[in-house]
Amino acid sequence: MVGASAKRHRQRRRSLAAKGRSAPKPIGQALYRLVADLYPLCRSITGSGVRETLSMLRRLIELKIHQVPSGTEVFDWTVPKEWNIRDAYIRDGSGKKIVDFKKSNLHIVGYSAQVHTKLSLAELKKHLFTSPEHPDWIPYRTSYYEENWGFCLSHRQLSELRDGEYEVCIDASMDAGFLSYGECYLEGELKDEILVSCHICHPSLANDNLSGIAVAAFLAKALSALSLRFSYRFLFVPGTIGPITWLCFNEERLSRIRAGLVLACLGDSGGFTYKKSRQADADIDRAVVKVLQETGEPFEVIDFSPYGYDERQFCSPAFNLPVGCLMRTPHGRFPEYHTSADNLSFVRPERLADSFITCLAVLLLLENNKRFINLKPKCEPQLGKRGLYAAIGGGSAGKSEQLALLWVLNMSDGRNSLLDIAGRSGLPFSMIRSAAQKLGAYGLLEESR
Ligand code: ZN
Repeated sequence: MVGASAKRHRQRRRSLAAKGRSAPKPIGQALYRLVADLYPLCRSITGSGVRETLSMLRRLIELKIHQVPSGTEVFDWTVPKEWNIRDAYIRDGSGKKIVDFKKSNLHIVGYSAQVHTKLSLAELKKHLFTSPEHPDWIPYRTSYYEENWGFCLSHRQLSELRDGEYEVCIDASMDAGFLSYGECYLEGELKDEILVSCHICHPSLANDNLSGIAVAAFLAKALSALSLRFSYRFLFVPGTIGPITWLCFNEERLSRIRAGLVLACLGDSGGFTYKKSRQADADIDRAVVKVLQETGEPFEVIDFSPYGYDERQFCSPAFNLPVGCLMRTPHGRFPEYHTSADNLSFVRPERLADSFITCLAVLLLLENNKRFINLKPKCEPQLGKRGLYAAIGGGSAGKSEQLALLWVLNMSDGRNSLLDIAGRSGLPFSMIRSAAQKLGAYGLLEESR
């Protein structure tokens, strides 16, 4: 996504909002605990680590776990064989384990084939991966669709290896099995759906993407306690092959999707980055931007590009769903990305809490984004005689509230949503919504269905 035409929105920090957002919150601790609980599991696009992850999420939310057999054709792809790993290590000439999968699951290249052999350092080096620019970190590598094997280690450790014979062992299996993914459906008043998706295929990496999993799971938990207008579908899927599989099995349902968000990298200390849907001006795009503007914190909006997370599949041309991607620092733009430094100290409870609150605000904005009809559209109705001016306070806040009444009355012709009105007027969505509520209570407005 680097290089996509970027539009920067900078806003002056509003002290109250900033204070509210930096305060530690119990939700932050709960999100962080979930990230920490999931961190040790060795996930990949298939296998027991994914199933254990889904089982842990099931303690929090109602999750239907789907099992799709290896070999299933999904559009242009095939569900791969299931990969499971039990152990992996490299021993030096003295028999000492110098790389041990049990110490870090990042040591093994994901989807490595089974191997047990002895080889020279020169031969071994063809299967070793490091990150020379960060010599103490272990990089994260995979080889899903090409049979290979390999180990990842710190560059410092590689440079200390001496010539000699090394024993390598990867005790892994690649057999017909299943691709597992989780789906949490919350039924609302409408059949129209809002989709929230995150990938669940990375091993011990905290920001990418345990942070997205935790925020999505807690959003589902929070929404499940509310009476909802839209229905919600939360997908916990392995990257790329997961959404492709889900889209393939759910084509008839896609016309119901009104908005969607892919969640990733939500626990680091950077500001928000929102990647717009391919439609670029869908309700989700405008809702996220409105919520981010109202936080008063700096944020960035980038255009859709066919590179990134699973929005690539949801926004493929045949579907073109209104699905954007919310991140803090985008993938590839923080040095810790896809390395052992994306660990439990890299993500912070307060950032996770702030991400959760922001996502919830976006979803609640969509819930409340209704259209209304002005019942007295011939000129302005006389607000004073109805006591509507008296019903709102004085000062500059009162003036804005009066303005909100006029905007809602003028634009409520059944075509403009409250989000449209908030955008046109530049007033906060909550103020526009409360103006609509007041006008409704005074018989001047009714919901357009
Ligand atoms: Zn990743």
